Amino acid sequence: MPAVHPIEPRAAPRPGEAFLEVRGLEVVRAKRRILAIDALTIRAGETLAIVGPNGAGKSTLLLALAGLLRPDRGTIVVGGVAVVPDRDLAYRRRIGLVLPAPLLLSTSVYGNVAAGLRFRGVDASETRERVDHWLERLKISHLRDRPASQLSSGEAQRTSLARALVLDPQLLLLDEPFVALDSTTRAQLLDDFERLRVEAPTTRVLVTHHLHEAVRLGDRLAVLLDGRIRQCDVPERVMASPVDADVAALVQTEARVRGHILASEDGLVVVDTGAGSRRDVEGRARRLLDATHATGPAVSDAAGPGVTGAPGAPGAPGASGVPGVPGGAHDESGGADERVATGGPGGW
Ligand code: ADP
Ligand code: MG
Repeated sequence: MPAVHPIEPRAAPRPGEAFLEVRGLEVVRAKRRILAIDALTIRAGETLAIVGPNGAGKSTLLLALAGLLRPDRGTIVVGGVAVVPDRDLAYRRRIGLVLPAPLLLSTSVYGNVAAGLRFRGVDASETRERVDHWLERLKISHLRDRPASQLSSGEAQRTSLARALVLDPQLLLLDEPFVALDSTTRAQLLDDFERLRVEAPTTRVLVTHHLHEAVRLGDRLAVLLDGRIRQCDVPERVMASPVDADVAALVQTEARVRGHILASEDGLVVVDTGAGSRRDVEGRARRLLDATHATGPAVSDAAGPGVTGAPGAPGAPGASGVPGVPGGAHDESGGADERVATGGPGGW
């Protein structure tokens, strides 16, 4: 058991070394164990994406990582020293926290971003320099003097990110930072966030229920289900080799179809889902493959009902049908049940 005392600010560990270790963490609420993390290491310099459906315990884990929640068991160890929940000001000063819907102070954008620096006693000219730098990087310089109450949700989230990043945190904790945004704003902020990963490298934990965000932004992916981390690995390996049926169900939603394989060509698989009429199924499979090869993977109506095409290696989960997935699970139109899945990871 490591010594328990507040951590003094110190240099961040080198990239690849453990920044933070979770050991035997348990959180019980209303007599229910909502979090049980045996072991989890966050490496310095990485972005760890924690992905799981609503209610999985993502926010609870993030609050525990932030030292804002007292676990019922276990510790969070940083640099060999356990974090003291609620009281560890030195640790709190090393982290930045971004929440889904930012609670901004009722002052200007500048005032919001400057607040943390002022609180830490940074002088006015350095504060101005650092705030302006981050306003520019997050593309909100033109909003510098705008009251926070007059911001759109995207602008507010950018302000919230600037507020966290201006403090140069060694660990940035982000809880669903894109969830409240419309799709255009979300796409822009995702692009900018990806850019910042390179321009402002730090250790990050990103919580999201959108698999595509986690895959895109995470160096590693931790799948959290019912308060437990079922798999933690690079996204490619989690996607290709889920450890169990539950993880497979979550990461391969878009590629899971029950049926039998009619044809397989160039990584494209045509599956008979048995949902449509039985006339000329083989012929329609052929036309579906031909049309897809001509145009690239896309939803296609080249064939009649009952045939689904999906890219993927034969024998990969989903390509040959996964027990427990009802037939026609891809039939969002309520009509014909044929389509060529893009195979990209989907959100939940
Ligand atoms: P997520 O962020 O993944 O959606 P949360 O961490 O917010 O999940 O919550 C995990 C589970 O714990 C949910 O079922 C939630 O209802 C429950 N929970 C969280 N906080 C409390 C609490 N204070 N009392 C009772 N149940 C709670
Ligand atoms: Mg949450």
